[in-house]
Amino acid sequence: MKLCDMTIHELAELLEAGEVSSKEITESVFERIDGVEESVGAYVTVLSDEALEQADAADERIAHARKCGDFSGISPLTGIPLALKDNICTKGIRTTCSSRMLEDFVPPYDATVVERLQGLGAVIVGKTNMDEFAMGSSTENSAFHITRNPWDLQRVPGGSSGGSAAAVAAGEAIGALGTDTGGSVRQPASFCGLVGMKPTHGRVSRYGVVAFSSSLDQVGPIAKDVRDCAIMLAAISGRDTRDASCSPEPVPDYSSSLKANIEGLTVGVPAEFRHSGLDSGIKELVDGAARMLEEAGARVVEVSLPHSEHAIAAYYLVSSAEASSNLARIDGIRYGYRAVDASDVQELIRRSRSEAFGPEVKRRIMLGTHALSSKHYEEYYLKAQKVRTLIIGDMNEAFKKCDCMICPTSPTVAFKVGEKPNDPVAVYLMDIYTTIVNLTGVPAVSVPCGALDGMPVGAQLIGRAFDEGTLLKIAHSLEKACAISDRRAPIAAMDGRRGK
Ligand code: GLN
Repeated sequence: MKLCDMTIHELAELLEAGEVSSKEITESVFERIDGVEESVGAYVTVLSDEALEQADAADERIAHARKCGDFSGISPLTGIPLALKDNICTKGIRTTCSSRMLEDFVPPYDATVVERLQGLGAVIVGKTNMDEFAMGSSTENSAFHITRNPWDLQRVPGGSSGGSAAAVAAGEAIGALGTDTGGSVRQPASFCGLVGMKPTHGRVSRYGVVAFSSSLDQVGPIAKDVRDCAIMLAAISGRDTRDASCSPEPVPDYSSSLKANIEGLTVGVPAEFRHSGLDSGIKELVDGAARMLEEAGARVVEVSLPHSEHAIAAYYLVSSAEASSNLARIDGIRYGYRAVDASDVQELIRRSRSEAFGPEVKRRIMLGTHALSSKHYEEYYLKAQKVRTLIIGDMNEAFKKCDCMICPTSPTVAFKVGEKPNDPVAVYLMDIYTTIVNLTGVPAVSVPCGALDGMPVGAQLIGRAFDEGTLLKIAHSLEKACAISDRRAPIAAMDGRRGK
């Protein structure tokens, strides 16, 4: 197996033992990028020179630790090449949100999550493609290019963090960060055979992450297995004085929580997940995953989330309302593309926004502005917030009966490129299992649980707020039972004759 196809924890062991260098790992990743990026299109910006410098610095750091016999300053992420979704600000490096609007936006500061990864000595490979401003489920809404699924290049990688997921699945990064407002880490992870987690709202700082919907947004890891997910989550979690919504709740050692078994834990299966749009093959795989957890010692019970059928409507109202307000600052004056030859300020703003926002972003801004307008506020926005409260009540009731819930991540496997472009509502409906998690703020993780027609399928585990440890423990147990975490996307084989 090539270095770029290995996991963070495998590479961290090799690095600590002095068997490989970060430079070799980073070169292996760039050889893979040379070999497959043209077909996959995972990146908006690739940072080869910067990454190789960071790899050298990491190698020096590890060599120094070895000389002193003190590895306390070395993290499992030291020297590991990672990718960042292009809505996460990077100082001096273009951060586009895959929009014409921010095509030339170079942030003057790093997001807190970037500072933390760099502080640990991680290597940043590049910025990944996404649906414009994180609005979408296929990465087809990028203003630049589409990204393809490394398991089948005719299919989408999911979205909106599709570039991050495709990069990891193709070995173009060892792990990646995405953002998840309504499923954008978990759904692409599921489509690309990876582990993706949306942490509890407030677990991870949002400072320096371009806001879509502030009450729903959260940064999360996309990784090849549960252990890597735990490593990345621990690295980015914890209090940040620059984000008032970020919790001071202490960060547990997530990796050590993987050791314990799941005996005595109760897993709830929400009765509502068997709705009619669910692919029967996916239902069978998720039922099978629940049985595997039972065999591993958990008790499986049925629970109910009676208001979950309203989650998508509430999600699209709340998220679009917040987006319309968050994106108001992008007006061609303070930020973003500026139209030329406008005769006054009104025209400048109107034309800048009309020319540089894509159709999906405009649709959401209009929907959100309408929902917030004084005439319609009560009917739409307020009602959506009330529904949200009812769903939180459902969730609290369900967690009286179980420690975690299991359901699909997505009702289908990855669909074909161009298959659903003109029907936004059909695409919105696919967020049925993921949006409920953001509306209630709790954490959830998508774990591969099998394949259908050769395409990966993820099971979603939903946990109690700030109980990511239990969630990862159950996810780890499922991963072991499914025994598929070492399967790699076939794109890696395309690259077989190149490099090491
Ligand atoms: N598909 C959802 C949407 O389009 C999720 C987006 C996200 O999580 N960023 O809004």
